[in-house]
Amino acid sequence: MSTLKSILHETRVFPPNEKFVKQANLSGIQAYHNLYAEAERDLPAFWDKLARENIIWHKPFTRVLDESHHPFFRWFDDGELNVSFNCLDRHLATQPDKIAIIFEADDGKVTTATYRDLHKRVCQFANGLKSLGISKGDRVIIYMPMSIEAVVAMQACARIGATHSVVFGGFSAKSLHERITDAGAVAVITADEQHRGGKINHLKSAVDEALAMGGTGSVKSVVVYKRGQGNLALQVPRDVWWHELIKDQSDSCEPEWVNAEHPLFTLYTSGSTGKPKGVQHSSAGYLLGAIMSMQWVFDYKPTDVFWCTADVGWVTGHSYVTYGPLAVGATQVVFEGVPTFPDAGRFWKLIQDHKVTTFYTAPTAIRSLIKFGADLPGKYDLSSLRLLGSVGEPINPEAWMWYYTVVGKSRCPVVDTWWQTETGSHMIAPTPGAISLKPGSCTLPLPGIMAAIVDEAGHDVPDGKGGFLVIKRPFPSQARTLWGDPERFKKTYFPDELGGKYYLAGDSANRDLDGYFWIMGRIDDVLNVSGHRLGTMEIESALVASPLVAEAAVVGKPDEIKGEAIVAFVVLKGARPQGEDAHATVIELRNWVSGEIGPIARPDEIRFGDNLPKTRSGKIMRRLLRTLARGEEITQDVSTLENPAILEQLKQPVA
Ligand code: ATP
Ligand code: MG
Repeated sequence: MSTLKSILHETRVFPPNEKFVKQANLSGIQAYHNLYAEAERDLPAFWDKLARENIIWHKPFTRVLDESHHPFFRWFDDGELNVSFNCLDRHLATQPDKIAIIFEADDGKVTTATYRDLHKRVCQFANGLKSLGISKGDRVIIYMPMSIEAVVAMQACARIGATHSVVFGGFSAKSLHERITDAGAVAVITADEQHRGGKINHLKSAVDEALAMGGTGSVKSVVVYKRGQGNLALQVPRDVWWHELIKDQSDSCEPEWVNAEHPLFTLYTSGSTGKPKGVQHSSAGYLLGAIMSMQWVFDYKPTDVFWCTADVGWVTGHSYVTYGPLAVGATQVVFEGVPTFPDAGRFWKLIQDHKVTTFYTAPTAIRSLIKFGADLPGKYDLSSLRLLGSVGEPINPEAWMWYYTVVGKSRCPVVDTWWQTETGSHMIAPTPGAISLKPGSCTLPLPGIMAAIVDEAGHDVPDGKGGFLVIKRPFPSQARTLWGDPERFKKTYFPDELGGKYYLAGDSANRDLDGYFWIMGRIDDVLNVSGHRLGTMEIESALVASPLVAEAAVVGKPDEIKGEAIVAFVVLKGARPQGEDAHATVIELRNWVSGEIGPIARPDEIRFGDNLPKTRSGKIMRRLLRTLARGEEITQDVSTLENPAILEQLKQPVA
């Protein structure tokens, strides 16, 4: 079986510039190799040292890694700590007046909180939660707009040892209901309204609807933050206003010291590949991953203004909004709105206004802004930027180049970070003062992350030949289990087919001769066309490289002769073509792909839409496209689908 590797033909290499290297936390490639080798020599000793240096322990641990209940690993498991203490109290002596959060609302209003403020607000709210009878081990659902209060709510849960489960504010009452009942939550923290892109979403009414669906008897309290006018009737005594709850509460709250393995949170995956999984994370190991990646990948400096655009409803918003930046004492921007409101310059204006140094967003956002042209970012002063990051999906080389040259003015490294809800923090990503970048590659694994590529039987494959992405050894920030379903955890991530040994990420990848990883898509997304293994990612990248194309998603459908035929769903930069025009564009794009990769990768069919079906975190849902490509009715779980109407458009092939 041969493998085509168009993106492996990507030859552009960007070594770190001298100025960046000089100031970097991990400076020069040798420093990276040394650290990686140190972890390889003695993995527990490597993490032992970092855990002692970077976490403040209430009771220091004496055991580092317990693998005896494989794959349910335990880290630092006789130690005690509190994650909120590690994010807030630790900074009170050294930098109480430093701004922790710059919050910009949808309408542009800016408010800030220093570390001292944030600490007080978390303590007050934590005391409020305690007054409701919430305590260690209880599960609390958080269904909030992006706000300082959302961070406060998460931190307050951590402070009292309650396990939070954040549900993205864009989810429906039905999805919320599923998560509330699955968690057996005792409380829901929400807001009257959410303001995004000038639209108002009534969160509290969705909570009421969810709680009326039954099976939610565990929920004793609903705390409502007043974001809007507060014109709603509370159901007393169940409901209480946030401001009423904290009114008479003390602003100091002794943290609940918990075991290192205490579940800090559970979080559902985004549902790209099926029914969402309730991923459960630990306290200490998770925190360590967030801290080390802030240092290694974001090259964190105390003078930085950090901005991760992810919602706290996703793991990215956990590790790189609520926990990582606060644990290292950063100043960060939290934004309520969307990139295109009031216009598509909003991100660039925010960077300019708040002098953002480190900007972390998703390929879907980048691709949607590319459509508006390079002039738009050019109108803003982006000179404060020093580092750019990408997460969530593979970033096509052309989108990477746009980000690098147009946004970063070829000055700022782009860190393409591969990781998952299940891994808690970055796994494969450049340490930007050490590693040369290649557009479209997430480069090399972080120190302590034993990433590899194996075949169906779990055997290593030679470099240059694709396979399953696995992580061979445990790492502190990995998920401990799936909430209430350890069997599914084992089956999904440590399947018997691979000998049960390695963590199976569910993505397929390729490693080039320099050891660089290229994510090719989900395992299910690899196509087999006449015996050639083709990653959907490579064909999509070829399409996006055409000047006509803004976004593309590629899937396979069964074909008697070739095994699989290639169906591409394409969003053009201009209007959706009709009739003759559509026909001509199809021919042009088929030839384009053929020229870029080879005739074998030429799409058999191309369909046009104004958009693609995406999860609410902005990822393309290829499993739905597979169904459409086959001409079948969609019967799968679509609870996390953002824009169902788009499916209609994509049903019909171009005549
Ligand atoms: P589900 O597991 O329910 O299908 P999901 O995998 O989309 O949902 P997440 O945990 O949010 O949920 O996403 C992790 C996945 O996102 C990775 O497995 C990978 O497929 C993709 N991904 C994230 N970052 C990158 C990246 N930098 N490059 C390539 N792919 C990425
Ligand atoms: Mg996944």
